[in-house]
Amino acid sequence: MIANKGKLLNKKISILGAGKSGIAAAKLAHYLGANVLLSDLGTNSIDLNLENLKIEIGEHSDEILKTDFIIKSPGIPNNIDIIEKAKAKNIEIISEIDFASLFTKFPIIGVTGSNGKSTTVEIIKHVFDKADYNTMLGGNIGIPFSENVLKELMQKKNKGIHILELSSFQLEYTNKLKLEIACILNISKDHLDRYDNYKDYIKTKLRIMGLVSDNGTILLNKDDNILMNQKNNSKNIRFFSYKDINMFDLDFSKLKLKGKHNYSNISAVYLISNSFNIDIQIFLDAIKGFAPLSHRLELITNFKDTLVYNDSKATNVDSMIAAIKSFDKNILLILGGLDKGSSDFTLPLINVKNKIKHITCYGKSGKVIFDDIKDNFKSNYEENFTDAVNSSLSKLDGVDVLLLSPGCASFDQFDNYMERGDRFKKIILRSA
Ligand code: ADP
Repeated sequence: MIANKGKLLNKKISILGAGKSGIAAAKLAHYLGANVLLSDLGTNSIDLNLENLKIEIGEHSDEILKTDFIIKSPGIPNNIDIIEKAKAKNIEIISEIDFASLFTKFPIIGVTGSNGKSTTVEIIKHVFDKADYNTMLGGNIGIPFSENVLKELMQKKNKGIHILELSSFQLEYTNKLKLEIACILNISKDHLDRYDNYKDYIKTKLRIMGLVSDNGTILLNKDDNILMNQKNNSKNIRFFSYKDINMFDLDFSKLKLKGKHNYSNISAVYLISNSFNIDIQIFLDAIKGFAPLSHRLELITNFKDTLVYNDSKATNVDSMIAAIKSFDKNILLILGGLDKGSSDFTLPLINVKNKIKHITCYGKSGKVIFDDIKDNFKSNYEENFTDAVNSSLSKLDGVDVLLLSPGCASFDQFDNYMERGDRFKKIILRSA
């Protein structure tokens, strides 16, 4: 067992997986005085030269078992040989997030949900920065929690706060984390390819409620069908709604964050800022100054009286519908790519039909979606993304908003959603 919040002098620790979080955990363990073995199945050499830190690549050898405990990187499957052997020997296996959480003295805010995690944690960071906190944002957003905890220990600063974006994947293996605030933004049918069924996915998201500390608070979305009914007898729960934003005297037309979904995110951040007694004026100024992240309903330009938005990060139906609902009417929507779980696009799109003027579908799943919707919508199909964007540009007459909000992953034609969004911007700005 690990001594909570203790140092790790002369402890032996094995780390499985030398990705970003494995390497960050190795550096933290090393700083705390442990003898570390970092093991990765890949064959690329790992550039990390530290005393008392051994690296093995290309195998997970039995050396790993000569250890006080094992830190498992998120990508490592649960059923591999070395894990089975460790379990048989009763060696404790913990996640990188759990490991890092043992050494922080700062409060931790955890945010999960199907959509809006990155946006919301960035808004939280913006507010806490303005309130002069030593703000550390990590987790699923790209910076490992261990890296931030190491920074905390080395800087020795006060008034710090950790903000953690938590994916369902990370929540699945997290047990020791103690959150001051646990926030669930929404739950929708994303990532169904990875979970046996929707119930398992919901259960994983709800696990965050079990990670809140005794005096901590759970924040849930009142407008979400699943979350509105959640109860917890021993923990404090507070609900937020997109409608809460009306209690502030805000000029919505001046906010750079558009749409009810963003008002919902902002309302969650308000409760958090309120829990930490942050001055309301600081909160409001921060909200007014916050611009959307790239690829999340990001305004690109005004092209021939059409506002062009890049929402390439909308990789599921719910985020796509949230984007459509952010506008009044006459939308030309570009959707498609690779659908993650045979989603139903038709019914949700019909529910917002009055806003849509035309739909251009592209890519592998775009063909299936096009065949489903073509009787209900003015629409066309182009297999290639660039062709789809060019075809949409020839149809801008009477269009108020050209919206790339694909509702699907990008992997059939791109490495990731960022590459897709960047291509979109390039084509638009070249034509504008
Ligand atoms: P995540 O980190 O959960 O993927 P992002 O902030 O990156 O979330 O946003 C992903 C997509 O979801 C974007 O298209 C964004 O506009 C949309 N979105 C943001 N907040 C919400 C919300 N509360 N409900 C639905 N969609 C949202």
